[in-house]
Amino acid sequence: MKIVTVIIPCFNEAQSLPLLHAELCRLAEAEPNYVFEFLFINDGSRDHTADELRQLRAKDERCNYVELSRNYGKEVAPLAGFDYAKGDCAVVMDADLQHPPQAVHAMLRKWEEGYDDVYARRISRGKEAWLRKRLSLAYYKLLSRSARIDVLPNVGDFRLLDRCCLDALRQLREQSRYTKGMYCYIGFKKTFVDFETQDRVAGQSSMSYRLLFRLAIEGLTAFTTSPLQWATGLGLVVSLVSFVYAIWVGIKTLVWGEPVAGFPTLMITILFLGGVQLLSLGIIGEYLGRVFHETKNRPVYFVQSYNGER
Ligand code: UDP
Ligand code: MG
Repeated sequence: MKIVTVIIPCFNEAQSLPLLHAELCRLAEAEPNYVFEFLFINDGSRDHTADELRQLRAKDERCNYVELSRNYGKEVAPLAGFDYAKGDCAVVMDADLQHPPQAVHAMLRKWEEGYDDVYARRISRGKEAWLRKRLSLAYYKLLSRSARIDVLPNVGDFRLLDRCCLDALRQLREQSRYTKGMYCYIGFKKTFVDFETQDRVAGQSSMSYRLLFRLAIEGLTAFTTSPLQWATGLGLVVSLVSFVYAIWVGIKTLVWGEPVAGFPTLMITILFLGGVQLLSLGIIGEYLGRVFHETKNRPVYFVQSYNGER
């Protein structure tokens, strides 16, 4: 029988876990033709997640769990999942039941049809702030315009991956990870199923605006260098305009003379040029920082224990 691994990154999810486990059992019961593995990745939780996982493991041996040595963030936790998954395919889903396990049935059917990567597309985004929704959509437009790969909006981490995708993803071991882009990067036969995002059952979302902004920068810098070209373009435009303006000032002074020292013009020019230079430096810095991190070539995560054993 084929093995299906369900990978669940958990960060402070003690309250959601019993509910999630019940749902997963229901899922496994409804799919008797597969052997299920529930693989929990404890991403350095600070609540009772570790205890919960130990209890789940004790009463259900389909449950396996990996404890990471600290909190590595939700982009790294799935990689640990890909490394430890035993399945012929793996489903990645959130611990907070925002990703309904019922949608897995449809994913499995698509997998049997021969698709390698079945992603779940949100038809609604659940309870989410208006601003966050807008910003997120605008961001995806920007990203797919500037990167050559298509990163889809309304597609999260909820997806089924065939063994071939898992093996590919395991080879992408960069430090600054933008998993959503990686799914697109690896290619393979993709299709989708639709689902409705549910509201979180318990606990709090870890994604503040600040974290989302970091992730957005990660996505851009990991998959495209076009911001560097924007900086060049901006610099080019500004120098061109300044050049024309300089000629104009020269002619004006020669022909009509210059009675007043042009303080405002001077200030505006200096401030504007300074701003553009700082912006461009910042963009270069973002990339340079990534080069710095990647050249260290460190392992992406360390494991504290597997099923409680070191
Ligand atoms: N998560 C994680 N490490 C983190 C933050 C989150 O493994 O540092 C997990 C979390 O437990 C959940 C999933 O990643 O299962 C998605 O996180 P969350 O629900 O906070 O994000 P959102 O759904 O709001 O994007
Ligand atoms: Mg969530």
